[in-house]
Amino acid sequence: MALFGTIEIGGTKTLVGVGTSPDDLDEPRRIETTTPEETLGAAIDQLRDLDLDAVGVASFGPLELRNGHGDYGHITATPKAGWQSIDIHSRLGEELGVPVGLDTDVNGAALGEWRWGAGRGLRQLVYVTVGTGIGGGAVIDGVSLHGLVHPEMGHLAIQRLTDDDFPGLCPFHGDCLEGMASGPALAARFGVPAGDLDGVELSAAVTLVTSYLAQGLTAMVRVLAPQRIIVGGGVAKLSGFYESLRADVAGRLASYPGLSEHGDQSFVIPPGLGDRSGLAGGLVLAERAAN
Ligand code: ZN
Repeated sequence: MALFGTIEIGGTKTLVGVGTSPDDLDEPRRIETTTPEETLGAAIDQLRDLDLDAVGVASFGPLELRNGHGDYGHITATPKAGWQSIDIHSRLGEELGVPVGLDTDVNGAALGEWRWGAGRGLRQLVYVTVGTGIGGGAVIDGVSLHGLVHPEMGHLAIQRLTDDDFPGLCPFHGDCLEGMASGPALAARFGVPAGDLDGVELSAAVTLVTSYLAQGLTAMVRVLAPQRIIVGGGVAKLSGFYESLRADVAGRLASYPGLSEHGDQSFVIPPGLGDRSGLAGGLVLAERAAN
C-alpha cells in the first residue's frame, strides 16, 4: 500500500498531511509561511522518516513548471519577500529522497476536486480561489492546464464599475481582478477584514466582489468552456456570495452563448472538499510522481 505526503504552501500558512485520499488524510499540520528555510524545513521535518512513496506539493507561485527547463520547480517572480528563485522541487526531493510532484495551489485544488470533490466525472472544470489573492486552475481530461506558464486567471483585466474609484492593489497591474476583488482589496475598501463585515456593508461588499468575479468567470467560460466552476477561498465564505455570483454570471452569459446550464445551481459551486482541495491535489500529484 502506497503512502503519500502532501504539502499546500500558501502565502500565509502551509499545511502538511499524509495519506492516500481525503478519506484517510490525517489532520493536517499547520505551519506559518515565513522564510523558505523555516517553512520548507518544518514541512520536511513532518514528513521525514515516514517511509513515503512520494510527495505532492501545491504551492503559491508563480512557478516554473516546464519540463526540462533549467529552473524547473522554482518559484519565480513572486512579490513575497525572500521566496524569489526558491527551488522547492529540488529542496524537497533531495531532503526527503522521494519523487516530488509539483503544481500551483489552484491547479492542485482543481485536481483534488476533479478526483474526489465537486468536479468528479467532469472533463473540463475550473477551480477559482478568492482570498488573499485570486487564482484559477483548469483541469482538462484529468490534466492540469499548463503552457509556457500556468494560467494566471486572477490577473484578468476587468472593466471597472462606473462609480468605483478604488485604485486596485495588484503590484503588477493595479486594477486587475485580483487587485479589485481579493480579500485585501475588500479590507482596504471597507477598513476591516471582509469576514468582520455585516449588514448593509456586507451586502455591498458581496455585490461588489461578485460583480467583478462574474466578469472573470465569464471570461473563463468563453476561453475554456468549463462544465463547472468551483469557487473557494475565504471571501467565498461571505454570506450570500454564491447566490450573488451565480445570478451575475448567469445574467452575463444569458444572451450569449445562452446555455441554460450556465444558470444552474450546480454551475458555480463551493468546493466539495472544503478547505482540503489543495491537500487532496497534493495527493494526486504525489501519486502521479510515484508512477
Ligand atoms: Zn494583477
